[in-house]
Amino acid sequence: MEIPLTILNDSYTIPQLGFGVYQVPPEQTQRIVEDALEVGYRHIDTAAGYRNEDGVGRAIKASHLGRDQVYVTTKLYNDSHGYQETLDAFERSMDQLDLEFLDLYLIHWPRPIADRFLESWQAFETLRSAGRIHSIGVSNFRVKDLEKLAANSTATPVVNQIELHPYFQQNELSEYHHAHGIRTEAWSPLDQGRVLNEPLLVEIGSRYGKTPAQVTIRWHLDKGNVVIPKSEHKHRMSENLNVFDFTLTAEEIASIKKLETGQRSGFDPSEFEGLWD
Ligand code: NDP
Repeated sequence: MEIPLTILNDSYTIPQLGFGVYQVPPEQTQRIVEDALEVGYRHIDTAAGYRNEDGVGRAIKASHLGRDQVYVTTKLYNDSHGYQETLDAFERSMDQLDLEFLDLYLIHWPRPIADRFLESWQAFETLRSAGRIHSIGVSNFRVKDLEKLAANSTATPVVNQIELHPYFQQNELSEYHHAHGIRTEAWSPLDQGRVLNEPLLVEIGSRYGKTPAQVTIRWHLDKGNVVIPKSEHKHRMSENLNVFDFTLTAEEIASIKKLETGQRSGFDPSEFEGLWD
């Protein structure tokens, strides 16, 4: 089973299907990420705010996979916006991960109330120029945040990682990404499990012998999204990877489009401060 690589606007590639570790308890992270690597994931998505970067780093060491065989993303914590704050936060993350370089660093939330993400972006560019990070991107940015970034920097984010699933499809933002060479990366791709009882997804799955989770992940892949489902269970990790032997028809994709509710499940980037300490 080969996970396809997607090319980014800086010419690096990213495995299109990865593994997320939000809400994975720190004390279980090493075991869970070891399981994920064992079943075939080669892209791990963590964040300073998840407090489990060290477990991710230990799992990668324990796997004996080469550094170039595992793609690692982490994110700048919300309390660290600002130029020097970002440089310092990056070093803390790298100490936790125990890695020499990072594949992808994201500004986790725009925090428009603080209004300092441009300073952080400048620090991201510094770190990238120094070879510490291959690719730089953002998360939870709205069109207006992306426009502000574009007006103040020549570095286009490689991805914008956003809440996206069949109930909240983010078509406007995805179109902006497409027009500007930014890859859409879907967080909570299964709406934290809420999509899994959706009759339409059950029905589509029955045509292919696939579960609603597999149909949903396939839908993301068919749309060109990078997608990072999370599971603490090894059999579900495998299930979520087993999506490369079918594709959805245009009619099926059109029917899933009608599941849009216009309601996000997660925090609203316009107001989320994310300072949970
Ligand atoms: P997901 O949409 O990936 O759903 C995870 C939930 O679905 C868990 O409860 C899991 O249960 C369950 N699940 C997974 N696979 C299956 C399956 N095959 N059958 C049944 N249940 C299943 O939610 P997340 O919020 O975790 O999003 C994924 C990743 O996105 C995060 O881990 C994180 O890396 C990233 N993220 C980023 C954010 C950001 O602000 N940038 C915000 C939120 C998430 P179980 O674990 O018990 O198997």
